[in-house]
Order: sequence, then C-alpha cells, then structure tokens
Amino acid sequence: MLKYDSFYFQCPHCQAWLEGRNLKAELVNEAILYSDGKVLNDNLITTPQKMIMCPSCGHIFWVENPVEPFITYEKPDADIYSWNTWRFFGVNFSDNKGKMALVNHYKTFLKKSHYEPKKEIYMRRFLWWAYNDLHRNHQHVRLKYLLNGFMSFGVWHCNRKMILEGEKLFLKNHKDFTDNLQRLLALLEKHPEEQIDLELPEIYRELRQFDKAKELLDQVGSRTHFTNEMLRHSKWKDPRVFMVTG
Ligand SMILES: [Zn+2]
Repeated sequence: MLKYDSFYFQCPHCQAWLEGRNLKAELVNEAILYSDGKVLNDNLITTPQKMIMCPSCGHIFWVENPVEPFITYEKPDADIYSWNTWRFFGVNFSDNKGKMALVNHYKTFLKKSHYEPKKEIYMRRFLWWAYNDLHRNHQHVRLKYLLNGFMSFGVWHCNRKMILEGEKLFLKNHKDFTDNLQRLLALLEKHPEEQIDLELPEIYRELRQFDKAKELLDQVGSRTHFTNEMLRHSKWKDPRVFMVTG
C-alpha cells in the first residue's frame, strides 16, 4: 500500500509541474524520533519541505502550506518532475558525499540572501539536522548491533564504515556546526513561538553546555522518556544526537 498521497504544483517562474507527497497520517506508526527533533518514517523525514529549488529552471521558492489552489490532487496532463528530483534538492542520502552536498546547499542559501526570522530558523534547523545526519545512527557502530542480529555482518560493516567516516566529516566541520547552532539558538530565544518541544535544552547539550541543558530540563514539568534520556546524555557529557524512540 502506498504510504503517500501525491499532489502537484507548478514552479511560479517556469511553470514546470512538480510532484509533491503527503504522508498518510493513518500509516504513521513506525516513526523514529531523534533528540534533535527530526522524525523519520520509513527512513524518510516527516517534516514537509517548504523551500524548493525548481529542477527545471533552478528558481527557489517557498511553499508554506501546500493547499489548494496552489496545489492540485488531479494529475495534470503534462510532464511532471517526480518528488525525488527536487526533494532535498535531488541529493542522494546513501553516502556521505550526498549528506555533505545537502549541508553545502543550506550553507549556500544562507550566505546568498537575507531571510525573515521564521525562514532563517527553518533553514538553520534543517542545516543542523543535515550535519547530524553525518553521524545520526552512531549507536549502530557498536558490536552489540551485529550480535543482536539486527543486520548481517556485511551490512553492519559497511554501515559502520560510513558512520565513522561521517563522524570524521562532522568533526572537521564542527566550527560551522557550532556557529549555525548558536545563531539558531539566538533566533529561537527571540521567537519562542517557533521552538519545537525540548529544542533549546537539546541545542545547549549539542553545544556542550551540559549544565544549561540540565537546568532547562529540570524546569520541564512532566518527566517523559525523552526528558529522562536527554538528562542522562547531559550527565554523561555526551553531545551527540541520539535516537529517542524507534
Ligand atoms: Zn522553474
């Protein structure tokens, strides 16, 4: 069964048709939540992509809400750029080169022009997640994952190599990662309405300000698995993104 509903819209500059996809809500039950707020379903991110670069003419435009009449659910009688051609600017996530290409896309967009705070927050959050993608499933490098039988030796070994290489790239770019997070933090503190749940303590934790992270977590009224895990990682002085549920 298809997990998505397709919709269609046109580039406002060259009128090329693009296919978009909406996750069917009733089928979202195997989601993976990470500490930085990224949610994956079937390995695909569930947060809609609001900034689009037209695969035909390169024009950049924003789709805040994919609603009619801007979009249509009726398939147009025209050539259509499939979702994969423009989703995350056509980047291939199966290797670190693709992951770095996504990082560089966001960096270039941020350098090129000035954005209103809401849009800058959106882009800096996606840049943060893109950096974290380099070592997102770091727990998979442990031998435990092989011994638990989650994956074959071949898959585990290959995956391990990619994550360890990703970790090196992450550390190599750590100054840029930190600069982006500090700017995102400043913007979110000024615009609290844009904050995602537990985003601030997570940013402080990833910036290695563990005491500040703990202080904010202590102010959260009800303890959940998420807050407990974040507290644990803060106490260990572990700044790496981790899987909360999955
Ligand atoms: Zn176009």
